[in-house]
Amino acid sequence: MAAPRGGLEAVEAEDSVGLRGTSGIELALPSGLAVPAPLCPHGPTLLFVKVTQGKEETRRFYACSACRDRKDCNFFQWEDEKLSGARLAAREAHNQRCQPPLSRRQCVERYLKFIELPLTQRKFCQRCQQLLLPDDWGQHSEHQVLGDVSVTQLRKPSQLLYPLENKKTNAQYLFADRSCQFLVDLLSTLGFRRVLCVGTPRLHELIRLTTSADKNSNIKSLLLDIDFRYSQFYMEDSFCHYNMFNHHFFDGKTALEVCRAFLQEDKGEGVIMVTDPPFGGLVEPLAITFKKLIAMWKEGQSQDDSDKELPIFWIFPYFFESRICQFFPSFRMLDYQVDYDNHALYKHGKTGRKQSPVRIFTNIPLNKIILPTEEGYRFCSLCQRYVSLENQHCEHCNSCPSKDGRKWNHCFLCKKCVKPSWIHCSICNHCAVPDHSCQGPKDGCFICGELDHKRSACPNIASSKRANEAVRKQKQRKSNKMKMETTKGQSMNHTSATRRKERRERAPSISLLLNVQ
Ligand code: SAH
Ligand code: ZN
Ligand code: ZN
Ligand code: ZN
Ligand code: ZN
Repeated sequence: MAAPRGGLEAVEAEDSVGLRGTSGIELALPSGLAVPAPLCPHGPTLLFVKVTQGKEETRRFYACSACRDRKDCNFFQWEDEKLSGARLAAREAHNQRCQPPLSRRQCVERYLKFIELPLTQRKFCQRCQQLLLPDDWGQHSEHQVLGDVSVTQLRKPSQLLYPLENKKTNAQYLFADRSCQFLVDLLSTLGFRRVLCVGTPRLHELIRLTTSADKNSNIKSLLLDIDFRYSQFYMEDSFCHYNMFNHHFFDGKTALEVCRAFLQEDKGEGVIMVTDPPFGGLVEPLAITFKKLIAMWKEGQSQDDSDKELPIFWIFPYFFESRICQFFPSFRMLDYQVDYDNHALYKHGKTGRKQSPVRIFTNIPLNKIILPTEEGYRFCSLCQRYVSLENQHCEHCNSCPSKDGRKWNHCFLCKKCVKPSWIHCSICNHCAVPDHSCQGPKDGCFICGELDHKRSACPNIASSKRANEAVRKQKQRKSNKMKMETTKGQSMNHTSATRRKERRERAPSISLLLNVQ
């Protein structure tokens, strides 16, 4: 998954354009009058405000909820900006043109035709990321095409499709087999019968594979994801094209009803939501969305169940803990380290690589969740939860305090456990890295001022850089007319052109984040 904005590089880039000091972008509260947000191709936009040195700038603006790079969606509008009828019409046409070429129904019909074909006629265009019917072959004759697509391959779309790694939009980082299997086993042990997979295509896939192979396991799964390519492989009741930053269903009410029915089945019993959003995104819009999904589930509850919570697994880096718990106070973090396939830096510690900073946040009591001892976890009877082997119980803190899986040391002056590399600084009067400079805010985060992380690890950094960029570009454009993007053609693949470039750019930022503190 994507690190928050390219780590140190992003910080340097930001500084080099002269945006020093405490600045950031925050989600703004809509003003008293309920004005509907303007729409971009990704549904309703979000209202942002730029914050400089703790002061809000008065001019607020709308920008795309899903894309943190203007190359992916260039929507920008000042909150108080009045658009001419012609511009509104042009925008509407642009939004239309950016929608997927096929409706959800058409995709399903194509799939049903495809599986009827004999093996030798089942082809997949790797360039266009599309299953081909015989009528399409001509158009793709110059492309790299995979033949003999088997039923097994069709059941594993996350292996057939290449991951969309562009970190400012999809940030598609797929679970390593071990982590994915751990999740499926855990969900089944906990007795769940339905899993709402929000941005977890590989988990969705493994649940379905497990259910069809093993008669004892019968878990249903519904995938909500912005990656439209998946609509080629699933029926309407198991995939919805969805934006988790604004709770937008691209196929409107029909899709929303699929989701509602799924959450409310059996009076809402036996369902859990599992989500693994791009880390570059803001926590707040995600929290707002998840609360909407929770509300949808609640509607199906009977009165006497009113204090029950929808069980949730939110997979995210450990340094977002305080931010997540701010929105969901009942959530606790598990020590389990989630590993990814297509991210060299997030592999398991035991393989000699960096340890993954990604954890599971949940409202399920931690004593119900067993972590595998063979992978280096043990049960702490005092904390009543499984922890990393190195995470030693501290009798002063009365907890197993480590967040990163290493052994932390108790500091009697700070009255808490701190990272092993930190020493107590008598000038700053708290623990810090040995080579810090003792000048107040500089030790903390430039964006929010918190002392426990640098700007590169700040939960607000995503929005900060994006908005700075948005404002800068807007100024640059001044008199330039808004340039309309041209149609992207009939392909499923909206990003292949930039893919190679993104690959090269993939930043080793998480490891940097772990090392800078
Ligand atoms: N580890 C997961 C994948 C997580 S990567 C797995 O293996 O199943 C993040 C996922 O979120 C990707 O599938 C990506 O397509 C999806 N995503 C990114 N932005 C999104 C958005 N705005 N709305 C919905 N899904 C999004
Ligand atoms: Zn958009
Ligand atoms: Zn093709
Ligand atoms: Zn301690
Ligand atoms: Zn200290």
